[in-house]
Amino acid sequence: MVQNFAFPNQAYIGGRWQATARTFTVKSPYSGEVVAEVADCGEAEAKMAADAAVAAFREWKKRTGFERGKILRRWNDLLVAHQEELGRLTALEMGKPITEAKGEVLYAASFVEWCAEEAPRVNGELIHSRFPHKRQMAVYEPVGPVYAITPWNFPTSMITRKAAPALAAGCTVIVKPAEQSPLCALYLAKLWEEAGGPPGTLQVLPALDPVPVSRVLMEDMRIRKITFTGSTPVGRILYRQGAETLKRISLELGGNAPLIVFEDADLDKAVQFTLQSKYRNAGQTCVCANRVYVHRSLEADFAQALAEAVGQLKVGDPLDPSTQIGPLVGPEGLEKVTAHVEDALAKGARVVAGGKVLGGLLYAPTVLTGIRPGMRILEEETFGPVAPLMPFEDEEQVIAWANDTEYGLAAYLWTRDLGRAFRVAEALEYGIVGVNDPVPSAMGANLPFGGYKSSGLGREGGHWGMEEFLETKLISFVLP
Ligand code: NAD
Repeated sequence: MVQNFAFPNQAYIGGRWQATARTFTVKSPYSGEVVAEVADCGEAEAKMAADAAVAAFREWKKRTGFERGKILRRWNDLLVAHQEELGRLTALEMGKPITEAKGEVLYAASFVEWCAEEAPRVNGELIHSRFPHKRQMAVYEPVGPVYAITPWNFPTSMITRKAAPALAAGCTVIVKPAEQSPLCALYLAKLWEEAGGPPGTLQVLPALDPVPVSRVLMEDMRIRKITFTGSTPVGRILYRQGAETLKRISLELGGNAPLIVFEDADLDKAVQFTLQSKYRNAGQTCVCANRVYVHRSLEADFAQALAEAVGQLKVGDPLDPSTQIGPLVGPEGLEKVTAHVEDALAKGARVVAGGKVLGGLLYAPTVLTGIRPGMRILEEETFGPVAPLMPFEDEEQVIAWANDTEYGLAAYLWTRDLGRAFRVAEALEYGIVGVNDPVPSAMGANLPFGGYKSSGLGREGGHWGMEEFLETKLISFVLP
């Protein structure tokens, strides 16, 4: 595999590119070819990074929001200028089709742009005092050095969605990217360096085993915040670990998104809507529809139309701009998808499209009918290109089914009835609801993103995302 541009593969610590004693291999999930050998960080690198983040924080927090905003603005411009390279690295290291990957780079940049603009607007509040001789105010200050752990499925945007508000607020950030996708993270650090980001403000520690790096940073009292996107079981581990040093914590975790097609839906649009929501990134996004509830009166027509549309999706090489569905990221992902389909078939489901491995880590976009409660595919996050269709009879029943999960990230509904749209959107116990909108958080740097229940804590995006990185201080003056 040949890359026609240079990209870093060493760790970025304290403003220096550092080799490590060990390296690990990043392979393309599509071809299996080696993309790069990457620095493998452990406890020693984590300690160095913690010291550098603490030292850099002393200076960075003193810069004005205007100064920080200027550097972020340059970072944004560089991200946009390097859309092609970052898109290519994404396709190579985790298999997202390149057209979609380039779209993700713009989404990633949009957080940087938004935060560049917000940095000078972190104002405090003057508070009317109960006492005539006092003057009182609330001042916002950066929470401190931040530890960010990110997943592979959005290898650029999950980093900027955390790092941009943190840096804008005056925090320094240590990123531990997913072991499947360290290259985009290192490339982002290279662009931060080029933008004039001071040493130690943003650091990237790739690691094959996340545990040693995490142990050091989670135990370090000086690291005041952990922000994590990934699976719910790992989120729980970090929540427990963070308790010892009482770190501020943000968790963006797994989902089990329901998509509800009511009887008044426009069939063609509902099919397109399901395609967009379900098959993006081969179904490997936390907000992808996981279960599709279709009103019984529409079920047969909907299943046929969706099966036809799914059959047209182009599956293959993520570097080919016409590819719509790339490989799953790894063998465990493929095993989970296969197991969910087999479990459903054994319990009476039928395949109306796909339903098989196409070779390597490619799984055919799939539609299943005859879905019933008790199947794993309804209860767990499948994270693959499989739409299980389940018929329902009435609104109350489908709301109860939709809410009957420990997760609460995204939910979708399709209806032309305005009253129902509000009723159902309000009844769904989810952090994000798309009403006739398959991508509610598209280009959503200004929107709140996050989940209820086991889908997480806190919000990313907009002023909500900035507040996660700020402490509030009361300053009270007695007039002499
Ligand atoms: P994962 O939890 O296995 O890994 C995510 C990150 O955590 C990686 O960087 C990994 O190295 C690290 N990690 C794993 N074990 C760790 C440990 N013991 N200590 C410290 N770090 C550890 O998740 P994944 O399978 O890579 O990602 C997919 C999951 O992420 C899905 O559940 C998906 O829904 C979720 N996700 C959520 C959002 C959101 O915004 N809510 C966005 C994208 C993905």
